Amino acid sequence: MDPELGGWRTELVAALHAPLSGVLGAKTAKEFTALRIHTVGDLLRHIPRRYLSGTELTDLATLTEGELVAVFARVARINRVDGSDGGPGRRPRPGRLEVLLTDGSGHLAVTFFGRTRLLHWWENQLSNGVAGLFVGKVGSFRGQLQMTHPEFVMLDAAGRIVGKSEEKARMATLAQSGLVGMYPATAKLPTWTVAECARLALATLPAAEDPWPDWVRERAGVLGLADAFTAVHAPLDLDQAERGAHRLRFDEAFATQLTMAYRRNDASAHSARPRVRLAGGILDAFDARLPFRLTSGQVEVSTAIFEELAQDRPMQRLLQGEVGSGKTVVALRAMLAVVDAGGQAALLAPTEVLAAQHYQTIKRLLGDLGGGRMLGAPEMATDVVLLTGSAPAAARRETLLRAASGEAGIVIGTHALLSDRVQFADLGLIVIDEQHRFGVEQRAVLTGKADAHPHLLVLTATPIPRSVAMTIFGDLSVSTLAEIPAGRQPVSTVVVDASLRPGWVERAWQRVTEEVAAGRQVFIVCPRIGGQGSADGLGVVELAEQLRTGPLADLRLGVLHGQLPSDTKDQVMAAFAGGELDVLVATTVIEVGVDVPNATMMVVWDADRFGISQLHQLRGRIGRGEHPGVCLLITRVPPGETARDRLDAVAATTDGFALAELDLEQRREGDVLGASQSGTRSSLRLLRVLDHADLIAEARELAEEAVRRDPQCRTPGFADAVRETGLLAEGDWLENG
Ligand code: ADP
Ligand code: MG
Repeated sequence: MDPELGGWRTELVAALHAPLSGVLGAKTAKEFTALRIHTVGDLLRHIPRRYLSGTELTDLATLTEGELVAVFARVARINRVDGSDGGPGRRPRPGRLEVLLTDGSGHLAVTFFGRTRLLHWWENQLSNGVAGLFVGKVGSFRGQLQMTHPEFVMLDAAGRIVGKSEEKARMATLAQSGLVGMYPATAKLPTWTVAECARLALATLPAAEDPWPDWVRERAGVLGLADAFTAVHAPLDLDQAERGAHRLRFDEAFATQLTMAYRRNDASAHSARPRVRLAGGILDAFDARLPFRLTSGQVEVSTAIFEELAQDRPMQRLLQGEVGSGKTVVALRAMLAVVDAGGQAALLAPTEVLAAQHYQTIKRLLGDLGGGRMLGAPEMATDVVLLTGSAPAAARRETLLRAASGEAGIVIGTHALLSDRVQFADLGLIVIDEQHRFGVEQRAVLTGKADAHPHLLVLTATPIPRSVAMTIFGDLSVSTLAEIPAGRQPVSTVVVDASLRPGWVERAWQRVTEEVAAGRQVFIVCPRIGGQGSADGLGVVELAEQLRTGPLADLRLGVLHGQLPSDTKDQVMAAFAGGELDVLVATTVIEVGVDVPNATMMVVWDADRFGISQLHQLRGRIGRGEHPGVCLLITRVPPGETARDRLDAVAATTDGFALAELDLEQRREGDVLGASQSGTRSSLRLLRVLDHADLIAEARELAEEAVRRDPQCRTPGFADAVRETGLLAEGDWLENG
């Protein structure tokens, strides 16, 4: 390995990882950090949003207010209005230069303000050429579009820049290329400065080999990397610019897919103990007692899981399905198959409340099959234990012992299960509920505990579009439970417009009272905890108080939020689940998993503060029993605004996948991997997981081929790509719903 390359294996990738300060100086480099650009490669992958032609006059009719534009136009007319320099007792009044630009048919007004001397200077400049390039923001004045103080250079009849200064030299480079790229910019880094810096960065690239082998480039039909950078930053035509951008997008897709493909390969290189399904054991006994018939989806997914469990390679499967689609039953059957085969299964939930709920559900479903090998119990019975951080020391010791001895076939817990003191006699399967609450690192810790890797099943109720699944969970195979078991009740969702129809809010509380009178329970969800006289709308604390002393005075009301002590939380949740409370006013702590079949109504306060997927998750809490559910989304945002559109979308469909895609579309691409929130860099700058689903699929195929050809990852470019993607903030996008 070449020590010059800082650990990178290819010269080009090493050059792309050089800090920008070496090329632009510390000061300019620092300004680029606002655009999350730190290295030469970051800058070169920061590509123009669009291109303007550098040779034809701009069609002025296409301009819209608020746009940052570069306009090529002729000066049709100049009118100088001198100000006064002031005098004793008089304030100086700036003059202005009114310039009318034309493209031959339409016009655009441009105005400069300043002292007379400056006005003369501008006037001179503007009269100096045949046409000019004007860069600035389109504003409006008295209903007419106009630009104020654009940057400009004038061109002579041959298209050369007139006059010279540093700033002009920069714009000159812009004007001389066939196309002018308009870059995402900041106030300190206007588009032509970005362009100039990109050119400087481009010049530092060594004439080195492409990181991808020829066969990859040929099969993908992409430009070479160095050519692609030139194509996007100094294109001759739009077609070339697009080909360059395509190569860069392909690289992002291919690098992630390569990483995932090598991970899959790596996992399949580990051995696992096969857990072959046995007849006549606890699984069969459980199936015989099931009070319902499995849906065909459940049967299909279970079959796939049993097949994988019987292999000597660890299963790595993601099972996704809406809340209530019956994932828990599928997971439990997998655990029982492992128990039958003599192993143990661990189930991890993201919170203690959820772990406890899983424990109760599973105990209930198993009945005496889950009560341990006590006298009179069925011979195939196993023990189910709950391990949480808050359990008293003695009870915890006892539980640990039963896990270590193998007596407990099923161990349920939170991340506490990851702690080193938990030993298993023979851990055969790990089930992780709601993967997005766990880091991928933790997944690794857990699978690393056994000599032979345990099989892994990840459950998620957050619908994941296929392209996202391939990108982020590409090291897992994906199963989907699309069908909701018969007997599930529909949830109807209504947007309550509190600004246009304040009366409806009163009506909403009345509906709550009616629901309770009918013997059912209600969730009221608030985006914030509140308290301490917070100004920004009502929080849980204030809303609960208002309801308790107002419209819901006759009901039994509980309050639940994250800042309560954990035993209080447990008590409140238990009281609500047990029917001792009619109404629970809560934050999104209830979002995941909590199962209260008698809760049939949900009111979401300031619903516009929630994301699409989050609202969909939330309403999954109701309609879980025999009665249909109603979800009221209260908002003060008027129709027509984006936040309101989101609510209307949620009200219009219950298709979680459609909503997840919509959710994704509404976020900026950088948010997909949570990069903007965490401040880390995303390796997906240009790729949009929805728009480029085909490209991702193509990259995945090529990545699989790459692993077949080079299973040890010896190709330097592949090794670099895998190392680079290692920085990816995996799974984070799910957290910020
Ligand atoms: P998920 O974990 O996907 O949210 P669960 O497995 O908790 O869903 O199932 C939700 C409810 O539906 C549970 O009460 C469960 O017992 C029940 N259920 C699961 N599968 C079926 C089925 N095939 N038919 C009827 N009810 C089912
Ligand atoms: Mg569940």
